Amino acid sequence: MIGTVALDGERMSRLVTDDELGRELARRAQNPADPVGAVNRIPFSEPDHPISLQVMYAENPPFPLDPEHPAAGNRWGYVNMGYGVRKHPRVEDGVRFDDDELDYRALPNMTIEYALTDSEDEEIEFATGMLRRAGNALGTFVADPRLLPNGSSLHYMGTMRMGEADDDTSVADPYSRVWGYENLVVGGNGLIPTANTMNPTLTSVALAVRGARQAVEDLTHASA
Ligand SMILES: Cc1cc2nc3c(=O)[nH]c(=O)nc-3n(C[C@H](O)[C@H](O)[C@H](O)COP(=O)(O)OP(=O)(O)OC[C@H]3O[C@@H](n4cnc5c(N)ncnc54)[C@H](O)[C@@H]3O)c2cc1C
Repeated sequence: MIGTVALDGERMSRLVTDDELGRELARRAQNPADPVGAVNRIPFSEPDHPISLQVMYAENPPFPLDPEHPAAGNRWGYVNMGYGVRKHPRVEDGVRFDDDELDYRALPNMTIEYALTDSEDEEIEFATGMLRRAGNALGTFVADPRLLPNGSSLHYMGTMRMGEADDDTSVADPYSRVWGYENLVVGGNGLIPTANTMNPTLTSVALAVRGARQAVEDLTHASA
């Protein structure tokens, strides 16, 4: 979920003087290539906040704002706010390869199976309410909260999920070893079997380290 808010000058001036703002804008102007001034987060926490908020402050909105818009050129700047909402993995969600339909390199074409269910819809509704509340506390929305289309995440996960048992609901065991093979170990976000709301890379790294340690142990025993 994302939305953009023009900060409210009256509320902001209770916290920051006009001189302080002027100094900060002058400091920021020394590095105009950096479009984002600050990033803050409210992390995921269950059960009260099962979503993860990222707030990015910038002098300009992340899209061209009509110069006639009442919030255009807002001296106090804008915040682009995004709530990361979970996608709960399901066995039905995955990548299907089709031997009868080849891609441009003559490899089996892939189709992504992916659908939102009631549990995601409920959390999306909750996140929308929270985003509206947070945005209204800071100023006026110049882009209303909206849900990005399926597939526009930067965090693709769970395409070769790890699982506890070789029961056709997972691809690899908890140490990244592909079920049914002695010598095939996989790594990356595809292994993550659970839902998360933000930044998966450290989780992947932790899983890879665990798998690598197990591989060292397996190879040590195999060669002993
Ligand atoms: C703009 C952007 C911002 C992001 N910001 C964050 C962030 O702040 N924090 C965070 O945690 N995550 C972030 N991510 C996500 C992060 O990039 C991924 O979580 C991470 O890179 C996933 O690692 P991976 O090893 O699973 O896949 P990848 O990093 O995609 O690695 C897969 C590799 O496999 C190679 N490959 C593919 N096919 C083949 C083939 N047939 N043969 C050989 N090699 C092949 C690819 O070239 C690639 O190098 C961001 C992603 C984007 C796009």
